[in-house]
Amino acid sequence: MKHVEEFRDAGLVKKALADLERTVTQPWVIMEICGGQTHEIVEHGLDQLLPPEIELVHGPGCPVCVTPLEKIDKALAIASQPDVIFTSYGDMLRVPGTEEDLLTVRAHGGDVRVVYSPLDAVKIAQENPDKEVVFFAIGFETTAPANAMSVQQAHHLELKNFSVLVSQFRVPPAMEAILGSPLNRVQAFLGAGHVCAVMGYWEYEPVAEKYSAPIVVTGFEVLDLVLGIKQAVEQLEKGEAVVGNAYSRAVTREGNIPAQKLISHIYQNCPRAWRGIGEIPDSGWCLQPEYDFYDAENRFDVGQIQSKESTICIAGEILQGLKKPVDCPAFGTLCTPEKPLGATMVSAEGACAAYYRYGRTRDG
Ligand code: SF4
Repeated sequence: MKHVEEFRDAGLVKKALADLERTVTQPWVIMEICGGQTHEIVEHGLDQLLPPEIELVHGPGCPVCVTPLEKIDKALAIASQPDVIFTSYGDMLRVPGTEEDLLTVRAHGGDVRVVYSPLDAVKIAQENPDKEVVFFAIGFETTAPANAMSVQQAHHLELKNFSVLVSQFRVPPAMEAILGSPLNRVQAFLGAGHVCAVMGYWEYEPVAEKYSAPIVVTGFEVLDLVLGIKQAVEQLEKGEAVVGNAYSRAVTREGNIPAQKLISHIYQNCPRAWRGIGEIPDSGWCLQPEYDFYDAENRFDVGQIQSKESTICIAGEILQGLKKPVDCPAFGTLCTPEKPLGATMVSAEGACAAYYRYGRTRDG
């Protein structure tokens, strides 16, 4: 198949589901890592069309959802300062910090701007030499090359008024943390196709082997998802655990080498806190020491900020596959997209937002 329309063909999806039905003989729990995949699954009711033996749980691959509250409070503190232009992807503006969100800071006179690319933030810094311009560099391996490029570009232009507030995550250590937890239910992963388009899937091979868990690189259309699930189930049924690629039209084992080189030139691996989950060793990228100058956390005095999570929100358990959004007592009552208690209800990729938008209840 060459064209994306074929991956949306209802007849082909039905046939793939029938194949899957014939393959599965026992219960399996499979996690889709990416929040974009979660939305596609819930929108089309794919989890309800699968054979009853297969349970899908929703992973932590939503950057807005896993950015820690403390980091959001730091963003709010920086954005509230005079002479700062704070730039961010649009999704972050409505994510609540401890007391407010970036939209509220803007309503109170803060200069908060949505950008579609971090290079736009560099341009704003060039055009406003008397202001400090900060970009909120959030995301996974998918945003890392563009975020890294903004630092490289600012360095090249010798801009002194540009910095980044980094909240950059890596998927493989999160998979290891989930699989290594004594509470773990996940038996196989659907790897996020766009992450692997950048990083390839060579990093997943030792994870699959160490934890005897199949990982299948999977795309984003319904048929992609069914084919990814089928590859995972075939391995589980045979007792195999390797990395499969069900998204070969976009992903190679090696990935995008120039992008990986750019990332490792600007960033180094570091421990990273995941909202609701806690710190996972090696699961983030921080700026290399030679680019420390561009670190907003050094430039602004926000090191001491500490934040306290809502005691009601169970997003951390949802993102580890231990619970579903409808298990949260606040779902759809105290917590809605209009009045979110947690980031998974705000983000376009959040599991709670998906369940709410597509009318899921405890009964289905
Ligand atoms: S419904 Fe709201 S409070 Fe509950 S887990 Fe989701 S975001 Fe958190």
